[in-house]
Amino acid sequence: MSHTVLLVDDEPSLLATLQIIIQSQGFQVLTAASGEAALEILQASHIDDGIPIIISDQRMPGMNGVQLLEQIRQQWPQTIRILLTGDPDPQVVMDAINRGGIFKLLTKPCESAEVMRAVRDAAQHFQAVREHHLLTEELQQANQELKVLSSTLEERVESKTQELMEALYYDSLTGLPSRLLMTDRLELAIKAARRANEMVTVLFLGLEQFSLVNESMGHEAGNGLLRLLAERLQMYVWDGDSVARMYGDKFCLVINNSGTTEKVGELADKILNVVAEPFFINGQAISINGHIGISLFPNDGETPPELFSHAEAAMREVRGEHGSNNYRFYSEELNKLSTSRISLQAEMRRALQNEEFRVFYQPRVNVRLGRVVGAEALIRWQHPERGLVGPDEFLFILEETGLIEPVTEWLLRRVCEKLVSIQEKSEHPVHMAVNISPRQLKRDSFIDIVKGVVRDTGLDLSKSFLEFEITENILLHDMRQVQQLLSGIKDMGISLAIDDFGTGYCSLSYLTQLPIDYLKIDRSFVLKLTETQGAKAVVHAIISMAHSLFLHVIAEGVETHEQLEILQRLGCDEFQGWYFSKPICEKDMLALLSGKTHLVHYLAQVEPFRIDPVDLKDLDNASATRA
Ligand code: C2E
Ligand code: CA
Ligand code: CA
Repeated sequence: MSHTVLLVDDEPSLLATLQIIIQSQGFQVLTAASGEAALEILQASHIDDGIPIIISDQRMPGMNGVQLLEQIRQQWPQTIRILLTGDPDPQVVMDAINRGGIFKLLTKPCESAEVMRAVRDAAQHFQAVREHHLLTEELQQANQELKVLSSTLEERVESKTQELMEALYYDSLTGLPSRLLMTDRLELAIKAARRANEMVTVLFLGLEQFSLVNESMGHEAGNGLLRLLAERLQMYVWDGDSVARMYGDKFCLVINNSGTTEKVGELADKILNVVAEPFFINGQAISINGHIGISLFPNDGETPPELFSHAEAAMREVRGEHGSNNYRFYSEELNKLSTSRISLQAEMRRALQNEEFRVFYQPRVNVRLGRVVGAEALIRWQHPERGLVGPDEFLFILEETGLIEPVTEWLLRRVCEKLVSIQEKSEHPVHMAVNISPRQLKRDSFIDIVKGVVRDTGLDLSKSFLEFEITENILLHDMRQVQQLLSGIKDMGISLAIDDFGTGYCSLSYLTQLPIDYLKIDRSFVLKLTETQGAKAVVHAIISMAHSLFLHVIAEGVETHEQLEILQRLGCDEFQGWYFSKPICEKDMLALLSGKTHLVHYLAQVEPFRIDPVDLKDLDNASATRA
């Protein structure tokens, strides 16, 4: 490409010579006789594709070379500037370099070859700079385009990632979290549990013969069932707990801080019930059973994969077992416990059906009156193989399963019937106490059930006394509700006793706000009476306080004469315990309370109660003479 060279010199001969030399190299040449003229030419030209190289003499009338080049540099920085001088004064050279930004300095007289080389170099340099410049511009342009491209690309990648993540993290059929997300969640749950020293439960749920649904009703129906089940399960879990579809017909629940293993078993049972409820699909009811495997952090594993696979293994074991609807713990130990619990639950239902429950009665004695004033009804289970089983072994199952309600209703009915028949034969009013579990008391239906039983049995509550024993812990619940409930019971003519007093949380001030008639001092206090002086003081305080509130005090678990004497001296009103009698069967109780037999204090009697024709008055006299 040919470039233009502008020659500036006030000496026309030199100008002409240089012009010839430079033109011979294929350059276009413009000439100017002064700096001012040169500026005019530059101004008129289109510098971009016009004049890249300027060669100027230093000494000229008017503007000198350095001044000219300095101005050109400012206005057209891309030009290549060369200074020609006959007198290379160092100052001039410095100025030319610093102010004029020259590419080269030529000294006069200069050889034509030297001029030619300088111009060629300048042209090359100009070309290089220009190319570099263009390249940079291009690069910048390309960069800009790239930026735009990459930002749209980024957006697309992001939305695609989001889509992919969603597909990975959520199950498209049910909308539930996937195994991947569940792994994350379990990981978090484990971390939190580790900090709080808590347990995390993993329940793996499979469906029994789900493939049959698919085969007989089609995949759409199968999918519909899975979706409905997902909804049910989701409604079932609490905030913070998670439910996921792992694959196929396998679901998983992660429960934080699920408490005891009993609670976990209860939960598994409830989930199985949720699964077993019929699904309505295409107007058809489908019933399906589930099976659940359970693993626990930290017992059965420390990582999500471990816990999942152990829960799944447990699930596989229980699958198909008796049509399933069953659960199983991964740990053998827990399994034994839970299977015995399951069979116990089943046995309890059977026991109720087969009328294996029995009511035993423990006589309550008033030494001052010298007679048995009544009895406390205590439940027993007449097991076909194990014999008579005490309530400590099965009461919790009744409470857990809710069977306590029908069982108590049955017991209450039985007690009321007996009370009616004794009352007909007894000359004194008879007291009959029934234990009511707090769980039951809280049910709205409770009062109605009691009313129904009293009505059905024809019990006259103005002549005989029915009492309910409740534990202090009921008082932990909403005070107003408790007051209302207890008042309702009182209004029916039923008395109330606080059972196991001293073992719970009851503050004495509570008692003043409640319609209570009796306080039963717990056996543990009676036991301590003969051991420490402090125990006596505590029991004394309880009795005085109770009396000041017009409450009767009954001591439970009196086993020795010594205990009886102390309690009598402390002002206790009535007594119950092995010293007088162990709980006795219904027949013996009827005989005793209708006055046909009498009670003898007999230590360590064996159930059933031994009857001896010795009157209790003797006992009263005996203890009086000893005291
Ligand atoms: P509780 O109400 O404190 O009943 C007293 C328990 O102490 C009875 O145990 C009785 O047999 C026992 N006992 C009585 N005198 C003595 C004694 O001198 N020494 C000793 N060591 N024990 C004595 P049981 O019958 O095993 O009842 C245990 C608990 O089960 C009862 O404690 C009561 O809380 C509950 N329970 C019993 N029957 C029923 C029921 O029908 N319904 C409800 N909800 N709970 C019941
Ligand atoms: Ca009791
Ligand atoms: Ca008690």
